[in-house]
Amino acid sequence: MHELSIATHILELAEEEARKAGCTQILDIELEIGALAGVQQDALLFGFEAVSKNSMAEQATLTITTTPGLAKCSGCNVSFPVQSFFEPCPHCATLLHTIEQGEELRMVAVHAG
Ligand SMILES: [Zn+2]
Repeated sequence: MHELSIATHILELAEEEARKAGCTQILDIELEIGALAGVQQDALLFGFEAVSKNSMAEQATLTITTTPGLAKCSGCNVSFPVQSFFEPCPHCATLLHTIEQGEELRMVAVHAG
């Protein structure tokens, strides 16, 4: 499962941050996940619960902010919001565009005590 490996990675990063800060318990992890990142948030939450058992983050909550998808048209250079990679430009209907935003998966903050 894709989300399980992401959850493991998040846990490792958060533990590293908490240790650096001299903390023993992770309370909250803030994440930013793009709408086009292909991450099932339910699966991620479930996976995190599984991998964080008996860790510093056992009691931690994941706070997820979804970043909307944004594409830039290769035909007319207009930026427009997208829900998927295959949406045509609303101005000139071309399917060629570059994704400007929405593919990211970022750990924004770790709150630990
Ligand atoms: Zn266009």
